[in-house]
Amino acid sequence: MSLEGAREAAREVLKAHGVTSAPVPVERIARKLGVRVQYAPLDNDLSGMAHIRDGVVIVGVNLLHAPNRQRFTLAHELGHVVLHRAILEDNVHVDRVLLRDRDSSAGLYREEIEANAFASELLMPTEFLDAILGGRQVVLDDDEEISTLAKKFRVSESAMRFRFFR
Ligand SMILES: [Zn+2]
Repeated sequence: MSLEGAREAAREVLKAHGVTSAPVPVERIARKLGVRVQYAPLDNDLSGMAHIRDGVVIVGVNLLHAPNRQRFTLAHELGHVVLHRAILEDNVHVDRVLLRDRDSSAGLYREEIEANAFASELLMPTEFLDAILGGRQVVLDDDEEISTLAKKFRVSESAMRFRFFR
C-alpha cells in the first residue's frame, strides 16, 4: 500500500458516505462502518486504540484530548480499520502521542504513516481544500489562514499545517 493508496481509500470512504463538504462527520462515518466508538479518559501519552472482538470493531479515543484532536484520532483508527484490519484481529492496537506527532517519520511503522495519511485525507480532503483555495498556495506561516482552515475542517492547527507539508 502506497501513501497515495491510503489517501485514495479515504476518498472512497467519503464518496461512499456522500460527504461533500467540511467538516467531515467522522463519527457518523465510523458508526456507519459498524465501528463502536468509546470515549474514555486515557493516559495523556495515549491518543487511541483499536481492536476487533467477536467480529466487532471497537475504537477507543482519549476523551482528555481536545475535541479536534479526538477527531483525528478517530480518523487514524478508522485508517487502521479500513487498511489494516488484520493487525486489529489478534491484539489491541494502541496509538501513542509520541509516535503520531513527531514531524520526522523516522522510526514510525509503515502502518502508522499510512493511517495518518488516511486520516489527513479523510478530514482535510484535497478536493475540499482545492475548492476553497482555488489553486492558491497556503503560506504555512500565515497563522490566520491556517487557523481559519483548521476551524472550518475541525482539525488542530498543527494537523492543518502538517497537511500542506506533504
Ligand atoms: Zn495507529
